[in-house]
Amino acid sequence: MTPPEIVVVAEHLAGEVTDVTLEMLACARELTHTIGWHVTCVILADDPKPFEALPLASGRTVIVQDPSLSSFNPVAYSKVLAHVLRDLGPRLVLVGNTNVGTDLAGSLSHLLDAPVVGGCIRIRSEGEGILFTSRMCGGKLLAQIEVRDGMVIAMLLPGSFNREEGMQDQVPPTEVRPSPVSLKGLPVRFLELVEPSLGDVDVRKVPILVAAGRGVQSKANLEAVEALAKTLGGAVCATRPIVDQGWLPRARQVGRSGMIVKPRLYLALGVSGAPEHVEGMKDSGLIVAVNTDPEAPIFDVAHFGATVDLLKLVPILAARIEAAKGGA
Ligand SMILES: Cc1cc2nc3c(=O)[nH]c(=O)nc-3n(C[C@H](O)[C@H](O)[C@H](O)COP(=O)(O)OP(=O)(O)OC[C@H]3O[C@@H](n4cnc5c(N)ncnc54)[C@H](O)[C@@H]3O)c2cc1C
Repeated sequence: MTPPEIVVVAEHLAGEVTDVTLEMLACARELTHTIGWHVTCVILADDPKPFEALPLASGRTVIVQDPSLSSFNPVAYSKVLAHVLRDLGPRLVLVGNTNVGTDLAGSLSHLLDAPVVGGCIRIRSEGEGILFTSRMCGGKLLAQIEVRDGMVIAMLLPGSFNREEGMQDQVPPTEVRPSPVSLKGLPVRFLELVEPSLGDVDVRKVPILVAAGRGVQSKANLEAVEALAKTLGGAVCATRPIVDQGWLPRARQVGRSGMIVKPRLYLALGVSGAPEHVEGMKDSGLIVAVNTDPEAPIFDVAHFGATVDLLKLVPILAARIEAAKGGA
């Protein structure tokens, strides 16, 4: 009997597979080690070359090639994937819990009549069923979900697996196929990639970031946060609610719909640690979190944390650092 199939739907940008793709492969690899399933990585692209020799941790790579697949297009991707998935008949389909995956999961669920499990951080098999652990309500709740039979689409949260495990030593057998369906006359077309204007600071290049979350409470309180960042020789970035309120420019937002940053130090002040924010800062060298709520999910990714009122801490910290600098 052929083992059940896991299909990993790759995401890529500018000819490179993204971190979440490698994490999905790492997740699939873990499942194959325990239960011996077969993994296929499906890549949709106009040019197969950048992906043909990649040592991805899959049993095989299937590249579907078509000029309409040069960049992510939700309509083209859904049409192609529905055909490919019907053909491969996987038990489990992994997509990223990302903007791309969010676009795909709903339409594939509709086209293939398969359930979707969002926010997955862990997947394991138990008997005939597949058990998912999912982060819900902005990361505040963990849910256990079991799908007993049939195809299921799971959205994997970035940061849940080690991306290094998504590669192996050898290149798996790779097959390049034309699109199984006509992609002429699509109602949606990729025009251009628009990067946000960076303003005064490019937070992706700053080694020390002080992140302001809703715990900062008012625009006036940001002044103390700015002063602390200056003392540390860094810059202030923010969560989405801070930017949405117009307290800081859009280019300072970190997370899924903002910047991906990897500073040496990420000091998170009053940041809850919602998955959409964590996606943008989880790879920082040292993460220090200050939050009055000891259950805040930010502490799951922080190396150090303090459950204190940031409004009291920030001026004291800035003064102590200044004093230490003066004494040096
Ligand atoms: C499609 C989509 C994309 C998104 N993209 C992004 C994104 O790119 N970036 C992003 O950040 N969010 C994004 N979000 C929003 C995200 O889900 C969260 O709502 C957001 O990150 C929460 O921001 P926060 O941590 O500042 O606020 P909250 O979740 O409200 O957390 C505030 C925290 O401050 C703490 N606190 C309160 N007072 C104090 C105090 N005095 N001292 C210390 N701690 C205190 C609280 O305990 C709490 O944990 C996105 C959401 C969606 C649906």
